[in-house]
Amino acid sequence: MSANVPFLELAPIYEELRNEIDAAALRVLHSGWFVGGPESDRFEAAFAAYTGAAYAVGVGNGLDALHLVLRAMDVGPGDEVIVASNSFIATMLAVSMTGAKPVMIEPNPTTYNIDYSLLEDAITSRTKVILPTHLYGQPADIDALLEITRRHGIRLVEDAAQAHGARYRGRRVGAHGDAVCWSFYPSKNLGAAGDGGGVTTNDPTLAERVRTLGNYGSAQRYVNIVKGMNSRLDPLHAAIMDVKLPHLDAWNARRARIAARYLEGLQNCGLVLPHVPDWASPAWHLFVVHTPHRDALRTALAAEGVATQIHYPIPPHRQAAYAELGLTEGSFPIAERLAAETVSLPIGPHMPDANVDRVIDAIRRWAATTRIGA
Ligand SMILES: *Cc1c(COP(=O)(O)O)cnc(C)c1O
Repeated sequence: MSANVPFLELAPIYEELRNEIDAAALRVLHSGWFVGGPESDRFEAAFAAYTGAAYAVGVGNGLDALHLVLRAMDVGPGDEVIVASNSFIATMLAVSMTGAKPVMIEPNPTTYNIDYSLLEDAITSRTKVILPTHLYGQPADIDALLEITRRHGIRLVEDAAQAHGARYRGRRVGAHGDAVCWSFYPSKNLGAAGDGGGVTTNDPTLAERVRTLGNYGSAQRYVNIVKGMNSRLDPLHAAIMDVKLPHLDAWNARRARIAARYLEGLQNCGLVLPHVPDWASPAWHLFVVHTPHRDALRTALAAEGVATQIHYPIPPHRQAAYAELGLTEGSFPIAERLAAETVSLPIGPHMPDANVDRVIDAIRRWAATTRIGA
């Protein structure tokens, strides 16, 4: 039996750039500069240029990026922020942390992104921000969202934690909305050697407010103008990501080739495959399919050594953490159905074609024996 097919391998990313990453890490260690400073500045400038935004601000993680942007926009108690009912829980948590109310709306079950047709009804006089997630690296229809936010005089903040390098109508995600929030968690398309996050924006005031809020509310040492927190991007991570960033497009192109292979090879297997609108070039952070026979499929794949994951098995409104909302089963049926039916297949920048084919073959065999595709 051949070796297992892992879900995602991080080691080959390091191996590919080992000498440069080692040199960058040692440079930081020898510099004695461990918070902020020139390495962080350099990565921020490079990441801003990459996304096309005027400013990038490094923060401690993706959750903080979302939270700090909302605080910088004065979102707080009494306000409402619209999020997708099927996002990672961080999107909701960032809203809750401000004291504002997260208002969930359902996703479109084929793009997995929020269903625009539900937006107008969800907007109230308290709505301050629409906070869509470019889930799985599939960009949302940003122009449609901007049209709605501009018309209602509210702000668009994008959760791009899964969308580094994704393109919307040819332009990279990162400079469309009022602010775009990033996670550099190690398994994201651009990952640090630990936790990291960032915010990109064209608004200089907003960028400055995020930076100040993440630095104890201080822009000038020991002068604190607001009650901030400590959330900064460490230079060790910045220096390592500065090495990785020039390779991101090539890694994403490899992910896109794997996705194309899956899309072709998994026809007629009874699976709902990701739908890519013509204006989207996804970052393919995850390759997610859905089927009512999800658990049986996972068991069959595991038996063939193919690792899969579920993103995410429990939607935020059904988590114990949000018991206070009193949202029973059936409150958000599409998010609940996706949680019960989606499975993420292995994908990553160093996944060999042979492994992609093993996954496809294993799924085709499963579909044939269970006659699901028939
Ligand atoms: C990873 C992720 C986050 C949170 O990022 P952290 O760096 O882990 O805090 C937020 N939103 C989405 C959609 C994510 O995938």
